[in-house]
Amino acid sequence: MSNCSSGAAQANPFAIAQAQLDKAAAKIGLDPSVHAVLREPMRELHVSLPVRMDDGTVRVFKGFRVQYNDARGPNKGGIRFHPDETIDTVRALAAWMTWKCAVVDIPLGGGKGGVVCNPKEMSEAELERLSRAYIDQVGRILGPEKDIPAPDVYTTPQIMAWMMDEYCKITGYHAPGVITGKPLAVGGSEGRGDATARGGAYTVREAAKHLGIDLTKSTCAIQGFGNAGQYAALLFSSLLGCKIVAVSDTKGGIYDASGLDPQKVVEHKQATGSVVGFPGARQISNEELLELEVDVLVPAALEGVITEHNAPNIKAKIICELANGPTTPEADEILYQRGVFVIPDFLANAGGVTVSYFEWVQNLMNYYWEEEEVHAKLDKKMTKAFADVLSASLEHKVDMRTAAYIVAIQRVAEAMKLRGWV
Ligand code: NAD
Repeated sequence: MSNCSSGAAQANPFAIAQAQLDKAAAKIGLDPSVHAVLREPMRELHVSLPVRMDDGTVRVFKGFRVQYNDARGPNKGGIRFHPDETIDTVRALAAWMTWKCAVVDIPLGGGKGGVVCNPKEMSEAELERLSRAYIDQVGRILGPEKDIPAPDVYTTPQIMAWMMDEYCKITGYHAPGVITGKPLAVGGSEGRGDATARGGAYTVREAAKHLGIDLTKSTCAIQGFGNAGQYAALLFSSLLGCKIVAVSDTKGGIYDASGLDPQKVVEHKQATGSVVGFPGARQISNEELLELEVDVLVPAALEGVITEHNAPNIKAKIICELANGPTTPEADEILYQRGVFVIPDFLANAGGVTVSYFEWVQNLMNYYWEEEEVHAKLDKKMTKAFADVLSASLEHKVDMRTAAYIVAIQRVAEAMKLRGWV
């Protein structure tokens, strides 16, 4: 089994995902045939999406859907609209979805989709036509029993509603379970909006118990202020009692040692389009934010932001990776040696897919739960997943990421063996 070189791993998110798998596989002496299957996606579809723009011209966008492994159930994973999207990013995210569903023990496999586009430069009508074009091409491999997408970076509940509608038009029947993260009025679940951050908050609560940290006296910095980051600011403050001292978005960061009011920062971002310029706060860069003297650091933007260059300067005691793939393997080693407790992405941000799973279950039953029921079920899943990973970490004397891989790989491998794939 070839291991990735560290140089390649740095440049390519899928090489990082494979390197992480290889590390865990070596630790548990994984059967080489199981390892070989788990290193590659099972299926991928590349599409060209012609979309009529508002000025009458037609633009062709590149799109992808990767179905990584469905041994444990239908593939599940978001669709990202981003100008820098690449097939290797989608592959990595699909791999992480496989491990994520396994680590929280929900009966789903892993998938991911993406379109190379810049939604910030598109009108709502263009976005709707692009969303429908994606389903026209990719819909043939989707379905409530096959592959169920969800939102990711720059895709919204409205986009999920358009995509669901297009799928229903093509197939000719009502199928809300084809996609999750929908608005409530078209089959969304209570509690889906803040589920990723809420799940992350439960894992930070459990980590703090384990480490003996009093979160009501703690400080927190959050990189990224979209769905995951905004709800993290609100919930880490209201549920855990953390003082949020810094947040950021693409335009830069803001810092206030005496604490930011998360609700007011959300309103400022809604009004101005950025957190930057929030009254009374000092402007900082995204790089500075990561190295602040805080107890809890939450990367909630994009991948590859914590590297061997800044890992030695990170002062946080707990890193809660709400973003997918924010830490490179080299940085992981440094953080582990320095005793920084990293709650790895596919555990920390599994709340989103867990409530997506609840949404799918409710769609299939056509019977809907109250918000409290969703929160209680999410808490139970996240707390159990954290405990499983922590116990693997202590048993195998490895960092939490490798431990999460060990738990996930063993579950996927068991399903593949029972099905007779390996
Ligand atoms: P989003 O589109 O709602 O927000 C992304 C945010 O990141 C924006 O505020 C943007 O300004 C900021 N950002 C982008 N590039 C940045 C940069 N270079 N520096 C600083 N900020 C930057 O996306 P989201 O749904 O919040 O997703 C964020 C991360 O969380 C992604 O890695 C995504 O895969 C992961 N995630 C999201 C969910 C979910 O349910 N939303 C679930 C699991 C994982």
